[in-house]
Amino acid sequence: STDLSAVDTMIRRRKTRSVPVGSIFIGSDHPVVVQSMINEDTHDIEGATAAIRRLHELGCEIVRVTVPSLGHAKAVAQIKQRLRDTYLDVPLVADVHHNGMKIALEVAKHVDKVRINPGLYVFEKPQESRTDYSDQEFAAIADQIRATLEPLVISLRDQGKSMRIGVNHGSLAERMLFTYGDTPEGMVESALEFIRICESLDFHNLVISMKASRVPVMLAAYRLMAQRMDDLGMDYPLHLGVTEAGDGEYGRIKSTAGIGTLLAAGIGDTIRVSLTEAPEKEIPVCYSILQALGLRKTMVEYVACPSCGRTLFNLEEVLHEVREATKHLVGLDIAVMGCIVNGPGEMADADYGYVGKTPGFISLYRGRDEIKKVPEAQGVAELINLIKADDRWVDPE
Ligand code: SF4
Repeated sequence: STDLSAVDTMIRRRKTRSVPVGSIFIGSDHPVVVQSMINEDTHDIEGATAAIRRLHELGCEIVRVTVPSLGHAKAVAQIKQRLRDTYLDVPLVADVHHNGMKIALEVAKHVDKVRINPGLYVFEKPQESRTDYSDQEFAAIADQIRATLEPLVISLRDQGKSMRIGVNHGSLAERMLFTYGDTPEGMVESALEFIRICESLDFHNLVISMKASRVPVMLAAYRLMAQRMDDLGMDYPLHLGVTEAGDGEYGRIKSTAGIGTLLAAGIGDTIRVSLTEAPEKEIPVCYSILQALGLRKTMVEYVACPSCGRTLFNLEEVLHEVREATKHLVGLDIAVMGCIVNGPGEMADADYGYVGKTPGFISLYRGRDEIKKVPEAQGVAELINLIKADDRWVDPE
């Protein structure tokens, strides 16, 4: 049989530099950062500030706001001030669209990071019959992009702030589409063009994203980007997300399939789960993905069997009861098993086990050792007593 202790189960993250976003760092030397975006109008100072606070309280570590006009950019200054007045240190990111360079320059004074979409720097006017661009044309457009981008890059560089180069599959620039097609290659080239401009200005606080609404496209684009960066000696962190993932169960599964697959391969340093629901709903999904992969431990890990004909008590009810009593004991692993038919190893080396013994009785385990057999009615109370006796109990807040 395989010696499991010899199998390496650690996820090794792709080595990246650390990029500061206010008081938070994004990169492989830091835990994977959870972020989201408010959907309030940034002009609504009260509402937007409250939304940022709500997200922050739920564990959202970086909050993005949309900044469609100069007025919105100025409103962000007031939002930031409100947050400061209440001693709330939440790193903010501004999303700037459509050649909004004046907007970007204004908002760069107030936020910690600016997100731009290379696909929206559209200078070329393609003719319908066009199938490709000459190298000279490409270079001329690149020069125009550089001239436009330069003041923002210099402003962010001189303030020690950051930029996300956020490529979207659905909004590639025309000449990228003509040259590379609607492909992951086009997405990667789009990002590289902007990275090179930033590097030539000695600006390296960059985070890159390659979002798409189809998981296979998103996976291919991020993998290719990571590979190209490694080949080119670039160590920029990646921001992961599946755009337009939708809502409900499928939205969560789709996001998890995309984000989780990459994280498991060591790719990704910050994540956003985009749901067509209140942004507060995104945060627990992010933390669950990170917990399931063992990348962050922010809740109790429960190991529970699916129950079957051998189950000696109402597993769903008991699991619920155990969870309610112990969910604040972050750091512990607790197993709830209908019986011990396959041995304590099935509990995945949980710290404590609550296991069906005989009808009406359960056994409590510490690791692989059976500690005591008690009537089922006292099971949860005795489990708490055992945790207390081990000095691992804290009272819930
Ligand atoms: Fe059934 Fe026991 Fe396995 Fe649970 S642990 S699924 S009760 S055999």
